[in-house]
Amino acid sequence: MSMSDEYDYVIVGAGSAGCVLADRLSASGSNRVAVIEAGPADRYFWIHVPLGYGKTFYDRRINWAYRTEPDPGLGGRADYWPRGKVLGGSSSINAMVWIRGDAADYADWEAAGNPGWGWSDVLPHFRRIEHNEAGANEYRAQGGPVHVSDLTDRVHPLAARFIAATVQAGLPFNSDFNGPAQEGVGIYQTNTKAGWRVSAARAFLRPAMRRANVTVLTRALATRIMFDGSTATGVEILQSGTRRVLTARREVILSAGAVNSPQLLQLSGIGPGDLLRTHGIEIRHENAQVGANLQDHVGINYTYRTTVPTLNQEIGPWWGKLLAGANFLLRGRGPLSLSMNQGGGFLRTRPGLDRANVQLYFQAISTHQAKTGSRPLLGPDDFPGFSIGLSNCVTTSRGRISISSADPTAPPSIQPNSLSTASDVQDVLEGMKFLRRIADQPALRDIIVEELAPGPAVQTDAELIADFRARCGTVYHPSCTCRMAPDGVVDARLRVHGIHRLRVVDASIFPQLISGNTNAPVMMVASKASDMIEQDQV
Ligand SMILES: Cc1cc2nc3c(=O)[nH]c(=O)nc-3n(C[C@H](O)[C@H](O)[C@H](O)COP(=O)(O)OP(=O)(O)OC[C@H]3O[C@@H](n4cnc5c(N)ncnc54)[C@H](O)[C@@H]3O)c2cc1C
Repeated sequence: MSMSDEYDYVIVGAGSAGCVLADRLSASGSNRVAVIEAGPADRYFWIHVPLGYGKTFYDRRINWAYRTEPDPGLGGRADYWPRGKVLGGSSSINAMVWIRGDAADYADWEAAGNPGWGWSDVLPHFRRIEHNEAGANEYRAQGGPVHVSDLTDRVHPLAARFIAATVQAGLPFNSDFNGPAQEGVGIYQTNTKAGWRVSAARAFLRPAMRRANVTVLTRALATRIMFDGSTATGVEILQSGTRRVLTARREVILSAGAVNSPQLLQLSGIGPGDLLRTHGIEIRHENAQVGANLQDHVGINYTYRTTVPTLNQEIGPWWGKLLAGANFLLRGRGPLSLSMNQGGGFLRTRPGLDRANVQLYFQAISTHQAKTGSRPLLGPDDFPGFSIGLSNCVTTSRGRISISSADPTAPPSIQPNSLSTASDVQDVLEGMKFLRRIADQPALRDIIVEELAPGPAVQTDAELIADFRARCGTVYHPSCTCRMAPDGVVDARLRVHGIHRLRVVDASIFPQLISGNTNAPVMMVASKASDMIEQDQV
């Protein structure tokens, strides 16, 4: 049996972008908005506790838990790609580091043929979405829905040593990575409030759901876009074994994320001709760019055994967990209330670069003894240890997302093609050398017993690179698979080329991956898109 529902806007995906759109497009009260989410409501306790990140990482009830194809750049390993499948999307399972990216990233977006996407255009949207606990100025704002916490007085004491050592190694201190300059070392801000995660669902969707003109369907999989000729008219969904169509009077908006938005376009006949023909899908608009240009950051941890207590001792033993739990529940403080990435930084590893090419992460915790296939943040090493991580910022490697079947329930094929260019390899090599220089500075050297991973046997460039390829993994920033460009997938107003009344609004539209974390940039994109959609109302 098939039923039909009519809305003005049908949004696919309640993630970082979809939640912002649902809020903005329904605010006036004059539009009926439907949001289709494949996952469940976000009622699971560990979603809301910052360190619960370790619990949701592999939880298939709320996580797509993708595996990539074997990646030659990773020595043929198939990487694990968690993606949120729940209200809030990946913002419900991410590490909450709040970063906008470098002004130069957005200059590049605009230069790629996208007028209106330069730094001065996007800055007002970054300001509009946030409530910065540390105050407002020309870069930062208060009053927006996303509460951004300054954790300077709450981080583990070792973070101060990490910062001191990094300054000794030559990187300047930066008190606000989202201020005038991104470069430097400092404490990460997180999208948390009084110790609890502020996901896109909490900040944007919950308030929207109180409005009578908003309908949110959970456990509802969008299976294809419906058309009248080259005009999108609605979305077919599969919910509790039943297929039905939601009709969109104004527009269909895909916010299914960088893996699933290109998948849904391809399933709907918009994509590379050969691929669609292989799977017997009728071609509506041939475009080889759909699913192409996949960009992501890859990262690695260096792990150290130390003489001073770390979070390992605070949350490792059973009494530590009990104390941490009580401290969190009663006061919203302590290790459970913090992202594990406490300190961090952005650096240029060589002269001549116009922005940072390596990002640093400091974690006052180590999981060297952990088995692979688990992420036991709540079961760290039984000795004191800490980790310094790094990832690349600017990447020139390009991968691809392709449907593996015409069946919408089958996961798409993910080919990251990581570290496939010489400059990407050079960036991480120079990053690793700088990381070891940090560990060798007086502020850290004296308290380090030994480097556990990769360990002293790894010394030459070739050994460092081989170790990186063997141990690195995604830092969860896939993007650019429905690239915004005149010759890409969407135009500068995020309308799908060749199709009417269909937009893509999520990380997939990035023309180029920004040099940092992606949650805030995705929300910025959705904030800007909602203005455009209202301006274009027909
Ligand atoms: C483990 C992890 C850690 C991260 N850490 C950070 C961090 O510390 N800081 C940071 O800034 N960024 C971080 N990120 C990245 C950031 O969270 C994402 O870039 C961002 O949330 C992506 O937003 P999006 O709207 O593009 O997609 P998502 O937020 O992934 O939303 C897509 C939504 O669409 C739904 N969906 C997909 N297909 C369908 C379908 N066919 N039908 C119905 N619904 C569908 C999904 O279930 C999901 O809810 C992290 C990501 C992960 C996974």
